[in-house]
Amino acid sequence: MELGGGERKRVVVIGGGVAGSLLAKNLQFSADFTLIDQKEYFEIPWASLRTMVEPSFGERSVINHRDYLTNGQIITSGAINITDTEVLTGEGRLIPYDYLVIATGHADSVPKNKTGRLKEYQEDYQKIRSANSILIVGGGPTGVELAGEIATDFPDKKITLVHTGSRLLEFIGPKAANKTLNWLQSRNVEVILEQSVSLNTISESPGSKTYQTSEGQTFHADCHFLCTGKRVGSAWLKETVLKSSLDEFGRLIVDENLRVKGRKNIFAVGDITNIKEIKQGYLAQKQALVAAKNIKLLLAGGRESKMATYEAHSVLALVSLGRKHGLAQFPYTTCIGRLPGLIKSKDLFVGKTRKQLGLLPQD
Ligand SMILES: Cc1cc2nc3c(=O)[nH]c(=O)nc-3n(C[C@H](O)[C@H](O)[C@H](O)COP(=O)(O)OP(=O)(O)OC[C@H]3O[C@@H](n4cnc5c(N)ncnc54)[C@H](O)[C@@H]3O)c2cc1C
Repeated sequence: MELGGGERKRVVVIGGGVAGSLLAKNLQFSADFTLIDQKEYFEIPWASLRTMVEPSFGERSVINHRDYLTNGQIITSGAINITDTEVLTGEGRLIPYDYLVIATGHADSVPKNKTGRLKEYQEDYQKIRSANSILIVGGGPTGVELAGEIATDFPDKKITLVHTGSRLLEFIGPKAANKTLNWLQSRNVEVILEQSVSLNTISESPGSKTYQTSEGQTFHADCHFLCTGKRVGSAWLKETVLKSSLDEFGRLIVDENLRVKGRKNIFAVGDITNIKEIKQGYLAQKQALVAAKNIKLLLAGGRESKMATYEAHSVLALVSLGRKHGLAQFPYTTCIGRLPGLIKSKDLFVGKTRKQLGLLPQD
């Protein structure tokens, strides 16, 4: 869009995850647009556990940024610093901006390209297939969903899930956690709570490993998967001009218009924000749409007072338990079994997410 004086404004989004990809799709034709992401693709996070037991699932859930971002510049590098006017990437490039959005939800170390990522999933699948017994470390959504996938597709494997907390799925209510525990136990998943496993003290004998918990309990498993959750992706901001906009948990403090505290032209969306609600992708997407609307308004010379506001939402979460079952947490109740499974567990919202990015659901 040409603005007054023929100047084309530069919009930069850092992070091509759930929120960043949707923002990029929405803003690419409205400005001189750049997406900076550590990797060449967007991956639908909640489809990753299915991809471990069915690697071909990743063909649809790992999406090259170029497939939906046809108009903007894509820089495959981590952002390591920002000033009031520029972003510095790990490769030493300086990217100027007029409007900046930070959407670096969680830090993860994954391959740079789709081929590498799919190869990783193939390796995970072989690891699961060839093991008789599997240890899962971590009882948050990742550990629980992985246990559900393996228990469903490979019911003969012995699965042990160890979690440091006193209950599973601490991000939602205790009733939901208990129902999930019962579901897993009914599928012969052994769940050990309030203990941790030190992965430094594994002793190996051919074909099997012995693990020890913090309480001294030992058990054997052929392999393990670490599902302990990822750090908030804000470590790189701690020495930048935004350091005083981070809260004690490393989250960016935003106002009701999703602008970073004290900044007129820097927005933040998704899991990196300090908004008081559970961190979920569908909320990250809602925030992305609010931020996109506000940036478009400002690009068009609209008044700040006309900006859209974002309101925190109450708890609503879906956890898949294999291909047919699921757990739903609503504001006042929870429900487990085939009904929530019908909503999430078959396609894991992959077709829906692809459509939101302007792609064919099945391609
Ligand atoms: C197992 C599991 C199941 C889930 N199920 C659901 C569900 O059913 N429904 C739901 O709504 N939510 C679900 N969630 C939560 C959801 O995935 C997150 O809330 C969502 O991913 C947050 O989106 P985001 O864009 O803020 O961050 P992310 O999706 O984490 O994206 C962050 C992006 O930033 C990039 N990045 C990080 N640091 C840098 C840097 N310095 N420079 C450049 N790029 C950087 C990363 O590479 C990544 O692309 C689930 C999560 C998990 C783990």
